[in-house]
Amino acid sequence: MHQIIIIGSGPAGLTAGIYAARAGLEPVLFASSVEPGGELMNTTDVENFPGFPEGIQGPELMEKIQAQAERFGTKVLYNDVTELDLDGDVKRVTDADGTVHEAKAVVFATGSAYRKLGIADEDRLSGHGVSWCATCDGFFFREKTIAVIGGGDSAMEEANFLTRFASKVYVIHRRDSLKASKIMQQRAFDNEKIEFIWNAEVTAIHGETEATGVALRDTVTGESRDLDLDGVFIAIGNDPRTHLVHGKVELTTDGTIAVEGRSSKTSVPGVFAAGDVIDPSYRQAITAAGSGTVAALDAEHYLVALEDK
Ligand code: NAP
Repeated sequence: MHQIIIIGSGPAGLTAGIYAARAGLEPVLFASSVEPGGELMNTTDVENFPGFPEGIQGPELMEKIQAQAERFGTKVLYNDVTELDLDGDVKRVTDADGTVHEAKAVVFATGSAYRKLGIADEDRLSGHGVSWCATCDGFFFREKTIAVIGGGDSAMEEANFLTRFASKVYVIHRRDSLKASKIMQQRAFDNEKIEFIWNAEVTAIHGETEATGVALRDTVTGESRDLDLDGVFIAIGNDPRTHLVHGKVELTTDGTIAVEGRSSKTSVPGVFAAGDVIDPSYRQAITAAGSGTVAALDAEHYLVALEDK
């Protein structure tokens, strides 16, 4: 039986790995089979993670954090967790191969998943001109006209990045002001290839086999119009990835996992949560890393108390 199993390989999970490993707990960490490293793997320049004054690429940062976790003995498994049995002193974690892994404590750091617009066309045309990841798919839109939907930091970052390839990038936002931080906004305003379409809601994505444009509804006047495009990038935020623990641990009204005060303690003893999956407000790589630290320390204290029981 393991002391601790960590689920998730973003900054929260891997930082929990660093701390747990240095505490001699020999953590086993489940990274996803398809997208290990979490959301930073789809990011380009990370300019706000302390310690990198010149900035660092998201994937490189994750590589370094993972190397640090492994250096102290975190065992990273590239597999998916499919089921959790969290009751009692022995937690059971089932992976995609059906293997059951037992541990005394579990840290849940599964992050968040891209939010969808909720229109049928986005799934139908996903991978055919509709994307959630500029760094993955931007290359396919060389000299094309594309749109980014959203008004937050992600949308600004994607739009700026996509101007490296596309000849024109529209930013379509449902209001007349942005949610993004001032510096990210200014960078987008200063970019000649970016044009903003304000107060506009995407009601449909056109195209039979490839996206050819969108239908827009003006949120002020109610008027509709079509916009021809070669590609659509959706960057409207994320939702916490909690499906594995539904009905097993308490959630908040925001849909995040509920934790006790500033701790990582969930409603189930021995189960700790960290990172975006508990955070409806800050959601930064560095806050996730800090949160992973809290989870590892809480788990360590729990394990000591369990020994004494
Ligand atoms: P976000 O801050 O929640 O912004 C989501 C944006 O999408 C908002 O402008 C929102 O509109 C819009 N939106 C949400 N649902 C929509 C829908 N159904 N249809 C149309 N528009 C919709 O999400 P985010 O931009 O992904 O950022 C998440 C967190 O990561 C933030 O804390 C952000 O600071 C951080 N982040 C930081 C960086 C960086 O510093 N380099 C980069 C990326 C992300 P409203 O404005 O009307 O609500």
